[in-house]
Formats: sequence, C-alpha cells, structure tokens
Amino acid sequence: MMSTFNLIISLHMSNKQTKPLDFDRQHVWHPYTSMSKPLPSYFVESAHGVHLQLGSGEKVIDAMSSWWAVIHGYNHPALTKAITEQAAKVSHVMFGGLTHQPAIDLCQKLVELTPEPLQKVFLSDSGSVAVEVAMKMAYQYWFAVKASQPNLYKATDKTKLLTVKNGYHGDTFAAMSVCDPVNGMHQMFENVINKHYFAPAPKTRFGDAWDESELTELKALFAEHHQELAAFIIEPIVQGAGGMRIYHPEYLKACRTLCDKYQVLLIADEIATGFGRTGKLFACQWAAITPDILCLGKALTGGYMTLAATMCTDNVATTVSNSEAGCFMHGPTFMGNPLACAVANASLDLLIKDNWQEKIAAIELQLQQELLPLSAHSQVADTRVIGAIGVVEVKSLVNMSQIQKRFVELGVWIRPFGKLIYIMPPFIISPVELSKVIAAITTVLDENDCFIGE
Ligand SMILES: *Cc1c(COP(=O)(O)O)cnc(C)c1O
Repeated sequence: MMSTFNLIISLHMSNKQTKPLDFDRQHVWHPYTSMSKPLPSYFVESAHGVHLQLGSGEKVIDAMSSWWAVIHGYNHPALTKAITEQAAKVSHVMFGGLTHQPAIDLCQKLVELTPEPLQKVFLSDSGSVAVEVAMKMAYQYWFAVKASQPNLYKATDKTKLLTVKNGYHGDTFAAMSVCDPVNGMHQMFENVINKHYFAPAPKTRFGDAWDESELTELKALFAEHHQELAAFIIEPIVQGAGGMRIYHPEYLKACRTLCDKYQVLLIADEIATGFGRTGKLFACQWAAITPDILCLGKALTGGYMTLAATMCTDNVATTVSNSEAGCFMHGPTFMGNPLACAVANASLDLLIKDNWQEKIAAIELQLQQELLPLSAHSQVADTRVIGAIGVVEVKSLVNMSQIQKRFVELGVWIRPFGKLIYIMPPFIISPVELSKVIAAITTVLDENDCFIGE
C-alpha cells in the first residue's frame, strides 16, 4: 500500500511531468465544450488594462471584457486596493443573522442608482442564480396574492412565465427554461424543464421606425394566458447570448403596458446590459420603464468577483413577506460576500467618477464609423451597434478554432459564436486599441478558412 508520503511525492511528480495545458485538455471542463474533443484553450499568465498576457507570448486586447464583466480593465489599482483591504478585515461571513458595511454600502448604491420603485436588494453569487431568485420571487408573490384572494385566483394560476424567443437568462434549470428554446436546447431537456410561453423575438430594430404591428402575437399571448402568468421576463433593448439583437424601446414600453394591463410582474434581466454598456446606466432607461424585478450581475464587480443582485419593488417584497410563509425562501452560502461587495462598491464609485457617458459615447461613435461599414463586406449579413457593443453577423458559421487562432495572432481576444462576431470592450479601451480590434475583424472576414459555410 502506498504511504501518504509516497502518494504526495508521486502526485507532485506527475504534476511536474504533465504540462499545464495538457492537464487542462485532459481534465478541465470549459464552458460549452466537449471533454473528448475540446477546442484549444489559451493560457493567461496575467492581465493589465485591456490586455491579457498569454503564456505563448502574445499580448492580446480583450474585446470581450471577460464576457461583459471587466468594464474598467484588469488589475485596476482602485479595485485591487478595495479587495485586498477588505481581505485584511473579513473575507467572508454568513449573511444569515450577520451583516456588514460592504453589503450595506452596495445595496444603498444600488437603490440610489436604479429607478425609485426598486427598493429592496437580494444579493446572490451569479447571474443565473439572480434569475432563479427573480422567478422564485414572482412565484412567491402570486402564492401570497392567491392565498389572500382565493376568489380571484386558483392555486394553479400564475405559475408560468412569458418571454420572447432569442433570449438568454442563464444555465441553471429555471433560467434555462426561459432561454430561447432552440439555442437553449429545450428538446434535450424536454422532460426536465418547466414549459413556459414564448412570443416572437422583438423585431423592429433600435433606431428604425417603430412598427406597432409586431405586437400582435405578444398581445394575444398576454390576453390568452394572463391568468397563468406569474411574470414576463426579458433582456431590455439588447438580447445578448441568444443572438446579439438590438430592438426598439417601444417594444419594451409595450411589455410594461401589457404587464400592467394583465396583472403580470415584469422581470428585467440587465445582467449583460447593466452599468452603462448600452449608453444608459440601465437599458430600461431607453424606454423609461421600471420593472417590478431587476436582475444585475456581470459588470457589477468590474469583473473581479462573481456577484449578482435581484432588486424588487416594495410591493413585491411586502407581499412576499406578509404571506403565510412570511419569508423569501432563498439564501446562498456566499450571499453578500464582503470581498465581492467591497470590490463592487469600488467599481461603482469608479464608474460614476470616471464619466462613463463620455467613454461609452466615444466608443459608440467609433464603432459606428469603423464597424458599421463592414456591412458592405461580401461575408457580412448585418452589423449593429449600441453603446459599447458592436456586432458583425456573418453569412457562414465561423470555424471556431481557426478564427480564434487568427484573432490571437492579430493581437485581439474575440470569441465568436455561430455566425456572430461581437465585441463589448472594457470602457477604458483607447481609440487606437479599438481600431486594432476592428481591423482584426476586417482581416478575418477576408480569410476563407475562418468560416465553414451555412
Ligand atoms: C450572463 C447572463 C446570465 C447568467 O449569468 P451567469 O453569471 O453566467 O450565471 C443571465 N442573463 C443574462 C442576460 C446574461 O447575459
């Protein structure tokens, strides 16, 4: 039998013998990847500003902000200071029965920054969980209403959600059940996810003339199913991972109106769009509407820690709290983590202090001038821009490993999916760096081996 000492020695040796990237390929599961035929992973040694330093020697501009999160760039002194100072005080305590300044400060900031009716904050650890929490709040809200008004609602009423196609709300089961049925592979999960209602994706583009007629099916779904509907959930203005589509604010306004008319709660999922990304602090502001429940995440901590928040109105919170259950049935272990809250506070301070409006406006203008014209390219089906988001929809599927390799060679980190090459750079990107990103996209569009046909 191997002694503990020998076991440790042999583990140590095998670590030395396996190169890190080989180990990664053999044992480490990456997002949406096969473990038997993994796509290559690039090794990040460090990161600073907009740059990732790769183990292979290249320094690349991260045009993805690590999936929308790193708005101030990497290794920002103010954020690093906030998190290290907090670590020296208290890194984590349970949130049940205990509280602390970083969480109180953060919730105060969120209440101040968001529209007035959103008064209550529930902190959690990731975007998907924030969506689960939002859905659970909606269910508990109607559970309480039904208990107090049994003549109006049956127990089985108000247990469904309505949403739109091409949405993305996360990967946990409840969140997945309101993602686009095709992208979200609902067929595979048919027997294990709850079934909800789907309206067509919003059609009129942001900036185009509003076409009221696109509301016909949405209105019909509300009219037919409102008795069953607990909530309507939507990503305001920009549908992110479900297709990078940018739609007309009038659509969002109509959603609010229909929710009011039919007694359905409105959940706005601003996990991707929140904190300036679309040119407004929150994308709901494009339509001047307030949801009943708001989900925040991604950029909340400037990309330093995983943290999310679900906010709601006094009405939602009070109704849930005055119900028979008397409390909201959720409480993650790492709820309100002080490190995450401290760095979120620093990130929000920085955002406000650093004049985000000007930065986003400059990025948007440059994207309009340099990225939109790519629509004339023979490989390109469409281009679209809002705030610090740029999308190039191509005509053929991208060859992922090839296009990724070429982007790295060209000094940029862009991770396309399907037919979408899209960027949402850190707000601190310079005009020269942004030009380099757009030039890299232009270069790969000319290269046939970056695409694999329909
Ligand atoms: C990323 C995202 C989520 C899920 O957040 P995670 O932190 O990945 O769980 C939910 N909704 C939207 C709109 C998102 O962009």
